Amino acid sequence: MSDRNIGAVRSEEELYREACRYLPGGISRNIVFHKPHPYYAAYASGAYITDIYGNSRVDFANNMASLIHGHAHPVLVKAACEQIARGTAYTIGTQAEIKLAQHLCERVPSFDKIRFVNSGTEAVMAMIKAARAFTGRPKIAKAEGAYHGSYDFAEVSQASGPSNWGDLDDPARVPLVYGTPQGVLDNVVVFPFNDVERTLAILDRQAEEIACVLIDPMPHRIGFLPASERFITALHVWTRRNGALLVFDEVISFRLEYAGAQARYAVTPDLTALGKIIGGGFPVGAFAGRDEIMENLDPRKSPLKFPLSGTFSANPVTMSTGLAAMELYDPEAVARLNALTSKAIQQVAEAARVAEVPISITGGGSIFKIHFRNETPVSYRQAYEDEKIKNIIAAYIDHLYHKGVIIVYSCSCILSTVMTQKEIDILAEAALSGFRHVRPMLD
Ligand code: PMP
Repeated sequence: MSDRNIGAVRSEEELYREACRYLPGGISRNIVFHKPHPYYAAYASGAYITDIYGNSRVDFANNMASLIHGHAHPVLVKAACEQIARGTAYTIGTQAEIKLAQHLCERVPSFDKIRFVNSGTEAVMAMIKAARAFTGRPKIAKAEGAYHGSYDFAEVSQASGPSNWGDLDDPARVPLVYGTPQGVLDNVVVFPFNDVERTLAILDRQAEEIACVLIDPMPHRIGFLPASERFITALHVWTRRNGALLVFDEVISFRLEYAGAQARYAVTPDLTALGKIIGGGFPVGAFAGRDEIMENLDPRKSPLKFPLSGTFSANPVTMSTGLAAMELYDPEAVARLNALTSKAIQQVAEAARVAEVPISITGGGSIFKIHFRNETPVSYRQAYEDEKIKNIIAAYIDHLYHKGVIIVYSCSCILSTVMTQKEIDILAEAALSGFRHVRPMLD
């Protein structure tokens, strides 16, 4: 783009050396970390990111699924700029928050009321607190391997592996961070994703203490495997019978359907955590659900069971841009994007076939993940990638980067509405080259 002067740049090596003087490991989010140094962006537009050397690449990461319309979409830029000119945050309410709340509550049948926060982590944390406040119970149940952000309770067993995951009939509660209090571990119940019988047996053992069963309908760290209808129904029935809440983490999966991944199931969650796309590219989180649960946040109530504030919660820049993003992501846009993703999956699978690399592909909607194995995994432990596979994925992703394509570290692709067949063809060509590149590593 000619109107952008990226100027005489320092090298990425130099930038990283400087970054390491001020930031632990030179980064602010581990996802950006890359050996020997991270890559640095100059600007991005539509489906492309341009690095500090002026090289453009197709972006199939979309800031970890948070950008549904790619980068700097003109409608969103206009919404954001107009709001910035009117001020970025006030200590009084705005119409913008009411409009986005109305849009989302009308969009999703299970949302009676919604509360905005600033990140997916905060949304999951507040949703768990809302479940505790409503039930008066301390424990949460979550799937082994599922990532729900960095709230102490939600991150238990997020990264458990063969050395510490324990018996499948009673998966170990593995702390992520050194120093996690035992009290946190004691209040988390870990179950195997999509395994109905084992999960119900585990839940039954602590039935009276569980405030909520937390589930991501298509968890990233569990190989983007969709939760089965049978599993979700079983959790729904169990929570009805045992006085617990069924709560969904749709921070990523909300983009799958117009009304989120929950639209794919016969039952609905009591509460849902949101983030990513609903902020139109700005930091955001939200949780929404049944009136009788959400009313515990209503400051007109006495006693107020769940007081919650946040300096930047519902800030008008996020709210205005988020509304513009969600309005643009209408049922036609969702259908078109999901169809384009099916096309991408076909072309990537064909590339693997031509290169004679055995893969399977999981995912849904506008997201898919490549597994370097023939059979499609059905559980966290099956989808778990050992060092050898991790090295293959790292080599594959690096190769794609140098061929002009950025994908997510887990070997996943996340599409945006501004993509066309042209970007899919670029992906397929890079994927073929990548498969050929890693083929010798498979033996
Ligand atoms: N839940 C899920 C399913 C996520 O994927 C993420 C972020 N990748 C989070 C929660 C946390 O969101 P945030 O990074 O906005 O705190």
